[in-house]
Amino acid sequence: MDLTFNHAFDHVTRSGIRRFTEMVRSIPGSVLLTIGEPDLDTPEAVRAAAKAALDAGDTHYPPNNGRPALLEAISEFEARKNGLHYAPDEIILTIGATEGLFISLFSLLNPGDEVIIPTPAFSLYESITQLCRGTPVPLPTEEHGFQIDPAALRAAITPRTRALVLTSPNNPTGCIYSRETLQTVHDILKNLPIFVICDEVYRQLVYTEDFTSFSAFSDMRDRIIVVQSYSKPYAMTGWRLGYVMADRPVHDKMQIAHQYAVVSAPAFVQTACAEALRYDTSADRALFRRRRDYVYGRLTAMGLEVQKPDGAFYMFISVKKFGMDSLTFCTRMAKEGKVGLTPGIYFGCEGYMRLSYCYSDADLKEGLDRIEAFVKSL
Ligand code: PLP
Repeated sequence: MDLTFNHAFDHVTRSGIRRFTEMVRSIPGSVLLTIGEPDLDTPEAVRAAAKAALDAGDTHYPPNNGRPALLEAISEFEARKNGLHYAPDEIILTIGATEGLFISLFSLLNPGDEVIIPTPAFSLYESITQLCRGTPVPLPTEEHGFQIDPAALRAAITPRTRALVLTSPNNPTGCIYSRETLQTVHDILKNLPIFVICDEVYRQLVYTEDFTSFSAFSDMRDRIIVVQSYSKPYAMTGWRLGYVMADRPVHDKMQIAHQYAVVSAPAFVQTACAEALRYDTSADRALFRRRRDYVYGRLTAMGLEVQKPDGAFYMFISVKKFGMDSLTFCTRMAKEGKVGLTPGIYFGCEGYMRLSYCYSDADLKEGLDRIEAFVKSL
């Protein structure tokens, strides 16, 4: 019997990063620097809040978008910490930023609508766009120091453009968009019916004072969606929690998608989510900053070309001078040098590899020693 499936799957495959990581993991004795997940534990107070909620029987359906007290806490946190002003009824607690991105794009796209994705980019945007029957439009940033080239953005916009994704700090480069870049993007988009999806899941891992969010442009508030996550700042990747913030018309569409996809985030984690917002992330930020400086120092001493990142926990390293594509280079390095980095092609940018420095100091040192030995052997 010929079974047919949704043609939206025709172009979407399993995450290349995960497949590559599994390959490296199968090599005995290899060191992995591939995954974007803090090596820390979820803070004690956050774990305790979830345990207490479970013991208190907090196991029934909560409100779809999250408990009022939590939405209030998120609203207050965003105003105090990030200067964003979203009322509790403009916020939805989601199953990670992944669901946040899904319901954002699902709410906006009709078949054939285009989403501009500055590359290199986290592969999720392209896959979700395709699952929503939209068309991803890559916007290369490599030649512009990973900032957006105004001419290229103008050229990418068509009558079908529905959204632009801005990831700052960025995965895989760790770069943040400058004030000038954002101002230019704003000036190009301000009178167009195009949404801007601000993926700011690394916002609390910024190592400069000079961070600007596109959501600061309040004149475009009706076209901005901010996507947040508990995964990275609080080492809560396995909890699968995040939130989205947006003006009511788009929020109201997203809440319908959210309701029919997941009903709500789990009940007993919601007090833990409020507790996480009270956690002081400064020591973790200092730790990642110290690792960044160490890794950057080692890579440049090896003669490798990399832009010093201002946030997140990634470095995007050029391998162009070795005359191999990124998959060949990273596969050889994994097999011969026993160290795994992610090929840039999985982020839509050839000639690079991504190093994740959210690993222990010992793993980072060992991994960098192996990169150095492999590069010397070429
Ligand atoms: N956005 C970016 C830029 C990411 O790097 C990730 C995870 O690596 C996500 C979204 C998804 O995060 P979550 O764990 O909250 O689904």
